[in-house]
Amino acid sequence: MVSLKFIRKIQNIPNVYSFIFEPPKDFNWVAGQFVQITVPHENPDNRGVKRFFSISSAPFEKNVMITTRFETENSSSFKKAFYIMKPETLIESTQAMGEFIVKKQDKKIIFAAGGIGITPVRSIVMDLDYKNKLNNIDLLYTNRDNNILFKEDLENKQKNNSSFKIHYFINPVFICEETLNKIYDKLPDCRIYISGPPAMVKGITELFSSKGISKDYIRTDYFPGY
Ligand SMILES: Cc1cc2nc3c(=O)[nH]c(=O)nc-3n(C[C@H](O)[C@H](O)[C@H](O)COP(=O)(O)OP(=O)(O)OC[C@H]3O[C@@H](n4cnc5c(N)ncnc54)[C@H](O)[C@@H]3O)c2cc1C
Repeated sequence: MVSLKFIRKIQNIPNVYSFIFEPPKDFNWVAGQFVQITVPHENPDNRGVKRFFSISSAPFEKNVMITTRFETENSSSFKKAFYIMKPETLIESTQAMGEFIVKKQDKKIIFAAGGIGITPVRSIVMDLDYKNKLNNIDLLYTNRDNNILFKEDLENKQKNNSSFKIHYFINPVFICEETLNKIYDKLPDCRIYISGPPAMVKGITELFSSKGISKDYIRTDYFPGY
């Protein structure tokens, strides 16, 4: 276990905030990984005091950023306690873990992210850009409305990298056979990374599988609770 020191929170879009933490010097993570944090509070509801969160910052940014949505009065007791956390508070975290990471760039990479599922993808995009490796990558980004999380960060990277392309799918447009066909005449040989609410991840995994992409080339990150 490690202690993360809370520094500040910033509002990204309505109802979504990023929490910045200073990690201990020996804390390392690979872009795309997640942690489980503990926020002790009085009278926790039956969902308890621990949650998994992707780290939305890239390692070169040094601080650990966690980005999450608040449903105001419907929020869990965990989210309410997290929201009012005071700067300098130390919280307990696991080491970073998870396999939603880019190990190989031998093929085109397609990220498909839904809503808050963009968090590990932001980390990976920033990291690859920092390493001058943001090449031959498409981001299919589906969202409930026009409040696009990390829009500016991602579009800045698109401006500077001619082979990094973002395609938005804003409700009522979704990622489906028809919308995918508008982007790709023929799906390229690729590795797919899908992240977001479980139903979306399942649907898009099935879509790419039906297009002939082997499960070996599909990585997923489920965000239960959305
Ligand atoms: C690997 C991994 C990475 C993740 N990364 C992120 C991330 O980067 N950002 C992020 O925001 N989340 C992430 N999650 C999801 C996160 O752990 C929480 O599950 C999610 O934020 C919901 O939080 P909450 O349970 O406090 O519900 P809230 O967000 O407070 O509640 C949202 C709404 O859903 C309802 N609800 C949700 N779950 C339940 C349930 N089990 N029972 C009853 N009602 C429910 C609530 O009543 C409320 O209406 C990740 C999960 C995993 C496993």
